[in-house]
Amino acid sequence: MASPIRAYLNDLLNDVRQIEGGEVATYIPELAKANPASLAIAITALDGKTYAVGDADLPFTIQSVSKPFLYGLALQEYGRETVLKHVGVEPTGDAFNSTVMDEVNNRPFNPMVNAGAIAVTALVKGESYAARRQSVLDLLSRFAGRKLKFDEAVFRSERDTGARNRVIASIMSQAEMISGDADQILDLYFSQCSVLVSVRDLAAMAATLANGGINPLTGQRALAAEYVHDVLTVMHSCGMYNYAGQWSYEVGIPAKSGVSGSIAAIVPGQIGISAYSPPLDRFGNSIRAIAACKRIVADFGLHAFRSAPQSSAAIRGEASALSVRSKRARTASEREVLAREGARIGLLEAQGALFFGAAERLVRRIDEVLPQVDWLVVDMRRVYDIDLAACTMLARTYAASRKGALIFANARDPLREALSSMAAPNTLFADRDAALEYCENALIATDGAHTGASRLSLKSIDLFAGSSAGDLQALERLAKPFSFEAGQHLVREGEVGRLFFVIAQGAASVQLNLAGARTVRVATIGAGGCVGEMALLDGSPRSADVIADGRVIAYGFSIEEMMALSETHPRLLLTIFANLSRDFAERLRAANNEIRSLGN
Ligand code: GLU
Repeated sequence: MASPIRAYLNDLLNDVRQIEGGEVATYIPELAKANPASLAIAITALDGKTYAVGDADLPFTIQSVSKPFLYGLALQEYGRETVLKHVGVEPTGDAFNSTVMDEVNNRPFNPMVNAGAIAVTALVKGESYAARRQSVLDLLSRFAGRKLKFDEAVFRSERDTGARNRVIASIMSQAEMISGDADQILDLYFSQCSVLVSVRDLAAMAATLANGGINPLTGQRALAAEYVHDVLTVMHSCGMYNYAGQWSYEVGIPAKSGVSGSIAAIVPGQIGISAYSPPLDRFGNSIRAIAACKRIVADFGLHAFRSAPQSSAAIRGEASALSVRSKRARTASEREVLAREGARIGLLEAQGALFFGAAERLVRRIDEVLPQVDWLVVDMRRVYDIDLAACTMLARTYAASRKGALIFANARDPLREALSSMAAPNTLFADRDAALEYCENALIATDGAHTGASRLSLKSIDLFAGSSAGDLQALERLAKPFSFEAGQHLVREGEVGRLFFVIAQGAASVQLNLAGARTVRVATIGAGGCVGEMALLDGSPRSADVIADGRVIAYGFSIEEMMALSETHPRLLLTIFANLSRDFAERLRAANNEIRSLGN
């Protein structure tokens, strides 16, 4: 199937091609050679997938679109404070090559106008001019994800005709806004402007900024994450020459344009966009590239401040232990406690990206539910992102909560770290099942129901419930004691089952083996529970592994001997099968309840 995005971009290309007007820049003579009919648009997603249409591989010089990337480099090398001494962050409303400076602070207004960009270029580190020139090329190449080259003809052309930039540099030199050889600084600036790129490259460069500084094509970091938003902010307010304010208003995403006719625009966290067409409007922005960006943003609602409310979706579901249980198999008396008192264990399932607005909903709900329950499990399995604000709020909620009441399952690292200094031992569980099992055990313990009979009486085993004294005596004669250490198998998947076990002490987990050596625990069986009893029903091989969690004392019964008992004790097997069926029915109902209350 043809990609709908590609098809969209092709339609867009045809529409934009109809737009007339504008002039190709001629003040740098080499630029005047550009074909006014050239046109290209590209979008790069954050996994590196690029959609490019039109003259997508046509090289042109990057010009001013290099400025934000060099600004990022300066921030990374010197830090915010030092860079701010050299260049401000105020929009000017003046032309890109204005000689007006911020005289109060003795610095150019911002790094997107020529003066500010030259001040930034003056900060590039390197032993020699050649080394600095190489480091500029390396920087832009890191953003593009491939080795870029200079267009030496454009470089020379601009150097020979760049009188205006020489005026700017000399004003800055005199005012000591830049130090060192001004001609060499200008040469470096002209060099950075003459690097050859295509819209594919610019889309990748924009996507690198959208991706927190990591190039989505190479996976390499091009800019430290902490400076990405500085660069984007300055692009947002100053990136489009003296049309910047209106651009923010109409289009509303950070972008930078250049006189060769290109624009690189960023939808943070989503995509990088680039468009190219040489004819420029009176501000120096490409008429068709602006139109293309405008359309993309309007058609897909990408304006930075057009955010859709998503906060209410922070909670996916709510339940209690009345309907959702751990996979721990429970005896009849334990089940009775859980059915009676299960409302004392609450469960909140969080979902999505937890940022300030979403986390506010979650912590508000935690505060409402917590007083009504003894334990509240907050399951974060479906939370795919959690920011600093959410971690801070959850950590504060935890700090203010009743000790031992608030429990997290599947918490991600940032939250674990935020809680690390105060989390009590049973606060963070690897998964919901483990958290619920802990709460159930605590609930059963407070209720006084037995969780682990130390002495086994066959009468108290659910599987044998209802058997006559005579039948139980016959069973007792068949029981053989076994003991398992942690990690030992009671039952092994695939083997023919000759025994089934009744656990007297300890607990064992039923584990399924999945593809790729992964395993999943489907149940834990404690004292009074049975293991391998399915072999009584059919002769099929064991369906799962059952592994001792710790030391397990169990009684083993030979299937063959049990079957033989039917001759002398015919009611015994009937009772056992009736109990087994009831157990299956209960498990099925529990599964249905869980699906009903939380979905999948
Ligand atoms: N090299 C160009 C100049 O400084 C860049 C201008 C631009 O693209 O805005 O004049």
